[in-house]
Amino acid sequence: MAAVIEASAILAGQRRGLAKAITLIESQRPEDRERSQQLLNELLPHTGKSIRIGITGVPGVGKSTFIEAFGLHLVSRGHQVAVLAVDPSSPIAGGSILGDKTRMEALSREERAFIRPSPAGSALGGVALKTRESMLLCEAAGFDVILVETVGVGQSEHQVAGMVDFFLVLMLPGGGDELQGIKKGIVELADAIVINKADGDSETIARTTQQHYRSALGLLKHASFWQPQVLACSALNNRGVDDVWGMIEAFRGEADGNGHFNAHRAEQNLTWMYQLVDELLRINIKRNPHVKAALPLLEQQVQQSAITPLAAAMEVIALSQR
Ligand code: GDP
Repeated sequence: MAAVIEASAILAGQRRGLAKAITLIESQRPEDRERSQQLLNELLPHTGKSIRIGITGVPGVGKSTFIEAFGLHLVSRGHQVAVLAVDPSSPIAGGSILGDKTRMEALSREERAFIRPSPAGSALGGVALKTRESMLLCEAAGFDVILVETVGVGQSEHQVAGMVDFFLVLMLPGGGDELQGIKKGIVELADAIVINKADGDSETIARTTQQHYRSALGLLKHASFWQPQVLACSALNNRGVDDVWGMIEAFRGEADGNGHFNAHRAEQNLTWMYQLVDELLRINIKRNPHVKAALPLLEQQVQQSAITPLAAAMEVIALSQR
């Protein structure tokens, strides 16, 4: 990476600067990592002034159609909208479900919108870490609504739910979670469920589905002050999309008022720190030459039940401290 990225270019809201800074953050090279951390430290006082919204749903539910309609609505209200993607498919499939550039065409032409496809590959903290850091950069560049999109594969929903203020699950009309391929536990993470494609022949079914989830969510115990909502919309016809924003504004108002908003972010930061501590420790341990030399035999012994996993783990730790 040749050119120096100035914090001032990002603070001035320059797209090119922001895009380059995200590329720097995504870079695997140690020297880039150092520079990106420096940049983030400089920008940190200018971050945080946004609402971070996670959006998930199975492929085909209408995420990109929804984000386009939602984003255009926000832009028309004077907001600056950044769309980031956590795409768990990239390292496995070598391709990307979310990253293709033809998605959200109208939104990507808007000056007040910034769309960044998912990074490929996995590095420290995985794709989720990069998305977290990209989110901070977008905030420093003046974006006040950050949409983090993910597709329901692997751990990505949990990771996204852990980095946003509000988590939205899009669903199709008809059928329960299982029928929709929604993984167990995801509905419990939702601050809102939005039944998309509530139009044409599906409109009546969408209402029934909405009722179903309203009663299902009513049965859940919520740790938070917020009672998750169930809405229906047609992203394609742009109907009901504004209500979703209305709901999120109401959430924001309440969460700011009762202190939940800041407390939740503080908690997320701590969790993030400990995740990184775990990860850095693991990396350092595995790099240790004594550990490297001993691991093949230790693994074999554990597989053959010659020693207990705990004894092997303690041996690894002891070796790493040599
Ligand atoms: P994604 O894979 O979740 O991003 O889904 P897309 O946004 O690509 O949408 C998948 C398909 O569903 C496309 O053919 C869309 O045109 C269609 N679609 C999206 N939203 C709606 C909607 O509200 N109503 C209807 N009828 N179709 C929709």
